[in-house]
Amino acid sequence: MKHYLIESLGCAKNLVDSEVFAYILESAGYSPAPIPEEADLILINSCAFLQSALAEFDEILSGYADRKNQGEFETLIVTGCVMNRALDDFTGLFPEVDAWIGLKDFDALKSFLGAKNSPVISRSPIEEGHYAYLRISDGCRNYCSYCTIPSIRGVLKSVPIPQLVIEAESLAARGAKELILIAQDTCLYGTDLYGHQALPELIEAVHAIKGFRWIRLLYLHPDHFKTEWLELFKRLPKLLPYFEIPIQHSEDRILKAMNRKLGRAPLLELFKLIQSELPTAVLRTTLITGFPGESPQDHKKLLDFIEQVPFLHLGVFCYSQEPGTPAYDMPRQVGEKTALKRQDELLSAHRAQLEERLGAWVGKDIEVLVEAELEPDEELPKGNHRYLCRAWFNAPDIDGLVFAEGKKVKPGTFVKVNIEDVIDVDLFARII
Ligand code: SF4
Repeated sequence: MKHYLIESLGCAKNLVDSEVFAYILESAGYSPAPIPEEADLILINSCAFLQSALAEFDEILSGYADRKNQGEFETLIVTGCVMNRALDDFTGLFPEVDAWIGLKDFDALKSFLGAKNSPVISRSPIEEGHYAYLRISDGCRNYCSYCTIPSIRGVLKSVPIPQLVIEAESLAARGAKELILIAQDTCLYGTDLYGHQALPELIEAVHAIKGFRWIRLLYLHPDHFKTEWLELFKRLPKLLPYFEIPIQHSEDRILKAMNRKLGRAPLLELFKLIQSELPTAVLRTTLITGFPGESPQDHKKLLDFIEQVPFLHLGVFCYSQEPGTPAYDMPRQVGEKTALKRQDELLSAHRAQLEERLGAWVGKDIEVLVEAELEPDEELPKGNHRYLCRAWFNAPDIDGLVFAEGKKVKPGTFVKVNIEDVIDVDLFARII
């Protein structure tokens, strides 16, 4: 039996492709390597969104090329976003790569493996966890001025609802308890296929599937979020009132230069409306510091914005000057040091508020999804176990966790816990 290992780099959208590649490898007779050293075939599914992602890919590929030269495994395959960006920088340098497979070119992998070209495409999980991502569309037509995605993954292309329902049913059948809808811009789902924003129809369709307890939406672009959709969050019990709305900045001039439409006032209004309509709503956003032209005043106003909107979760990234994007040539580029300092200030301001916001859960009983049992701890009282869990307001990978202790419970189930403490972004709890 031959074994494979997939290095899935970048975001969850790439992970979905990695799972399809895993399925193809398994259909061709490979099984997942129990430990990385036992892999005969390595497939790197690359991310090329930023210069830093390309540097990471370069490092990982170099490591595998060296290992292959030492005879540690047989086959090295590269696919993913790098195939549509900076490919020429790598192909000549790495003769160790046996196949460069185009982005999402699943048939090319089948031919390389000599596998039968069956039209059935499914997904095999490659990560642990009791959640699954459903990529409802790929590509983007928003053309934010700093972003390389439209040139790498093409314009928006939605997957038809019936096809997504079949895929979601198979994810429920493999045991996923949480379904996470993802896309570059989830709100624009269906505009290319159906001529209107079809997210509500899709949500209703996946909500009817048995097996999922939680349905979460990520990447809700503020320019395209419809406030009438708030009704869905009130009516559909599985749809979590978790609003991941990446705004990137708060100031009109910067947002305009970013090619984003909603400015400060409507953004504030949107978040206020969500909170008044759904008082339990949890807000998450991402910000960019150091975008060309961002003045100290803009930064101050951004700090003020995050004081005004109680984001439970916040990601802050430094602007990256990406060749081929309109922002690359914009005047008044901001130095790296300044961008880092601003990032730090925003994160520190958020941390200061977070203690209070997460602290509000202390003493409360909530239901959490048990993701995995942790290694036993010597200090743990006899008969007690420790688990890594998530509350409904924790999305996998990007938010904090709940560490729960107590009687034996089964990963993949929901258990009630009492929250006892908060440290940084994580909660600590006792199983009831
Ligand atoms: S919405 Fe903007 S940032 Fe997001 S993928 Fe599309 S172009 Fe890039």
